Amino acid sequence: MDSREGVIWFDGQLVPWADARIHVLTHGLHYASCVFEGERAYGGQIFKSKQHSERLKQSGELLDFTIPYSVEDICAAKKLVIEKNNLPDSYVRAFAWRGSEALGVSGLANRIHVAIAAWEWPSYFAPEERLKGIRITMADFRRPDPQTIPSRAKASGLYMICTISKHKAERAGYADALMLDWRGRVAECTGANIFFTKDGVLHTPLADAFLNGITRQTVIELAKRRGIEVQERIIMPEELGSFEECFITGTAAEVTPVAEIADWRFTPGAITRALMDDYTAEVQPKAAAA
Ligand code: PMP
Repeated sequence: MDSREGVIWFDGQLVPWADARIHVLTHGLHYASCVFEGERAYGGQIFKSKQHSERLKQSGELLDFTIPYSVEDICAAKKLVIEKNNLPDSYVRAFAWRGSEALGVSGLANRIHVAIAAWEWPSYFAPEERLKGIRITMADFRRPDPQTIPSRAKASGLYMICTISKHKAERAGYADALMLDWRGRVAECTGANIFFTKDGVLHTPLADAFLNGITRQTVIELAKRRGIEVQERIIMPEELGSFEECFITGTAAEVTPVAEIADWRFTPGAITRALMDDYTAEVQPKAAAA
């Protein structure tokens, strides 16, 4: 990743990709004082760019730092990055972290840095896997209590358990892992939210202990537009056998059908297909947008 062609926006400047470096004594590296966004550009427009920039700023505030750029500045910088790199269809990573001015638990003396990179990322999971539905295993780690960690932030530290869970899943031949929350309720996958269907109704866990994904919110809206009833509620793992369809949502995953979670089986069906199509239509660039 560190020696590609192209430019990265780094603290207000476009720098050659290979030169976008930081010091080893960076606070963000040692103490996870780093927040980030994952976004996608479709046809030259970043889907819900403003919402992502707002979430980046909010994630910073939840980690007790203020990103020194406005939402508008961040949106303009992201647009510049996809233009300068000629990446109309791409994954965009905007992130902010505490720098290397001092190294200790306190980060009050450290400058807040911001960088934005973009690269091609056609599909999170292999296309053939996507159509037949992915296989998911259960994670050992649970999403922590929001009183333990600021779980609504898209913060690097929250991904430590996601990475370990994803590795375990991949080594066992699964695409992802489903995490319960600290109470034992169904929560989300390592980088995506989860939905189920039963008797024409869409069910998804209440986003009270994990990231309320922008894709999740979009899919709920799309389902409602179609007249599909949506229930955001507590879902226990014992219930998984009673659902018919299952899919996961996320900027990278988009709407990805699920065929298996551990011993439970699902058949991607009409609701999943309809929402996949609606999502694909929704992310297309809008003529009126800037
Ligand atoms: N949960 C986690 C842990 C994630 O990393 C992501 C991806 N950002 C999501 C959910 C989905 O969020 P979004 O739809 O905003 O990409």
